[in-house]
Amino acid sequence: MFITQKPEDIVIFQGEYSLAIVFLSIVIAFLASFTALSLNERIRKNGFFGRNFWLILASIAMGMGIWAMHFIGMSAFRLPVSMQYNLTATVLSVFPAVMASYLAFYISNRTNSTRWPQVIAGITMGIGIALMHYIGMSAMEMDIKYAYRPFLFILSIMIAILVSYVALYIFTSLQKFMGNFFVKLITSLLMGIAVASMHYTGMEAVVFYTEGEVFPAPSHEHHLNYRMLIVSVTLGIGVILGLSGLSSLLDRYVDFRLNHFDSLTGLPNRRQFEKMLSVSSPGSLAIIHIHGLEKWNRRYGYEVGDEVIKAVSEILIKMKPAFCILYRIEGNRFAVILESERDNETLKISMERIMAMMKKPLIINEKKLVIEMVCALTSSEGNDRAELFANTLAVIQHSNTAFNHAVIEYDPKIHTLAFERNLIQDIDRAMQENELYVLYQPKVCSSTRIVSGVEALLRWKHSVHGVISPSIFIPILEENGKMHEVTDWLIDHVCQQIKSWKSRDLPIFKVAINIPGSYFTSPHLMETLKESVSKYEIHSKYLELEITETSVIDQIEDAIRAVGAFKEFGFTVALDDFGTGVSSLSYLKRLPISTMKIDKSFVDDVPQSEKDSAIMKAIVSLGHSLKLKVVIEGVENEEQMKFLSSNSDNPIIQGYYYSKPLDARELVDWVNGFNELAV
Ligand code: C2E
Ligand code: CA
Ligand code: CA
Repeated sequence: MFITQKPEDIVIFQGEYSLAIVFLSIVIAFLASFTALSLNERIRKNGFFGRNFWLILASIAMGMGIWAMHFIGMSAFRLPVSMQYNLTATVLSVFPAVMASYLAFYISNRTNSTRWPQVIAGITMGIGIALMHYIGMSAMEMDIKYAYRPFLFILSIMIAILVSYVALYIFTSLQKFMGNFFVKLITSLLMGIAVASMHYTGMEAVVFYTEGEVFPAPSHEHHLNYRMLIVSVTLGIGVILGLSGLSSLLDRYVDFRLNHFDSLTGLPNRRQFEKMLSVSSPGSLAIIHIHGLEKWNRRYGYEVGDEVIKAVSEILIKMKPAFCILYRIEGNRFAVILESERDNETLKISMERIMAMMKKPLIINEKKLVIEMVCALTSSEGNDRAELFANTLAVIQHSNTAFNHAVIEYDPKIHTLAFERNLIQDIDRAMQENELYVLYQPKVCSSTRIVSGVEALLRWKHSVHGVISPSIFIPILEENGKMHEVTDWLIDHVCQQIKSWKSRDLPIFKVAINIPGSYFTSPHLMETLKESVSKYEIHSKYLELEITETSVIDQIEDAIRAVGAFKEFGFTVALDDFGTGVSSLSYLKRLPISTMKIDKSFVDDVPQSEKDSAIMKAIVSLGHSLKLKVVIEGVENEEQMKFLSSNSDNPIIQGYYYSKPLDARELVDWVNGFNELAV
């Protein structure tokens, strides 16, 4: 196989190269490298088929490129004898090239590839190219013999390894720039050169000769193996073009899949969902909302979050009625569309079954996770089809919706966005036509039984929706910037009421008015208050403003100033819902308020809960030590009353124990009855 020195009796055959074909061989090596790098890029760009898929395609492109380069290079080399190729060796020679490319790309694509893996990748690739070359050489069948010069033989392998290493090194370190055409071009050129330089050094290592009598006699007639040239060019270019074409086709397919299907669950996505809603008129719609997914992501990593989504989707796929279509419409939301109204009940029952099932913990990565969720359901029956989706979302977004595996049906009185819109449109009329009205809830001093004041609480008797609770309409109005106007209306209304008590010689109560946090620091509020008290000729001491600490905490300096200004003008200020916000003592000390209202949640479990009872005592004495009037809200029964009056001196009580909120006329009656009781 090797030839070390030239024996006397051999005749050496000199080959010659066709430069055009040499050039063509290098171009093929370069094109193959370029295609392989482009396919490699897709590993990161779209993970749709998995990295192995692209790695295999890239290795086929590279391996076939090396193979074609070799045989085109062989065709460029002409000997004065004719040469054939053994089919088996020719075909076999492609495998080391493909396999080495796979290994080399595999190693280079690992993130944080350090030097050693790169060296191994370079050696693998170099050996692969060399193996391909020498197996390819062994496929030669001709009438003369050949042997290798050892030095050049080894050098050719070294060159293959070295240039492969350099090319892969550049590929790895510039991988993030492979999107840049020129970087990819230069890297591909280098890889092409790695392949070609190995080949042509290897060709220099080979000596073609005959022994003894000179047969066949060297002639000047060099043969070009057209068949091999055509086969290798066609195969090389065919594979490269084929793979490029395939990959852009796959890109388009992936684009389609990604645009229309969710990659994690394989379910149709939001886009398809919206399309479906727009082209058909579904019978009903269910949205399943997973709550607190971020918590699992934060605690155990995104893989666990993904597993949760997958597990939930599998349950939904398995348990939803067969005639429904399931979509993943957002990270934490699935939608089920039912096409016909007929089966509404079936959908509801199956959703209830799914929710009941979801109460059980899911086992994910050997962890037991209880997934909070809720299912909102809207049927098109009696609902505007166009608003089906918005209405279902309104159920989920509603502040009263808990994530306790319930199936909540859309109720226009409670949820709807359309409902929200209605309220915003109707509020002006409501103020003018007294759909909006005020109830007063008395506050009573527990020891003296004197009514120390009342709290004004808004009510809305809507012409369509009936009586709406303030905890529903106030947040909606607040969000839509309507609460300032409503507060102005309320102030005017309350002042008018005080004037009416005064003019009828009835007892006058100090009225507490709830002020939205966003309005409290506005100069307009002060103007309205001044205007109203002077318009109805009442004393400012009859008005108290209730603010919550959470609503003013973001603008605490302004709030402190505002409280001071109101105080200066004779209005008092109460801190509402005390204990539910930050309850910071430093703010409490600096806010010149006169009253502290302890939130109902602290009273609910008094006196049963020792903890709550202790907290209640502590807050009351804190209030008193700050020289504040203390009002305890939401006192409902005798037991609570007993505990409170024996454990704190003179707390003021506001709650159903004394009275529910009453309208102005009821209030007068209530006060009369209350006073009679005392006598
Ligand atoms: P809030 O200011 O904490 O008002 C006290 C709420 O507790 C009132 O509910 C009242 O009816 C209720 N309540 C009083 N005593 C008891 C009791 O013994 N047991 C129970 N279960 N509840 C009791 P309401 O009237 O439904 O008001 C809810 C919230 O709506 C109010 O909470 C307040 O934040 C807001 N709100 C009401 N009226 C107005 C208003 O005119 N302006 C503003 N900005 N907000 C208002
Ligand atoms: Ca209040
Ligand atoms: Ca309150």
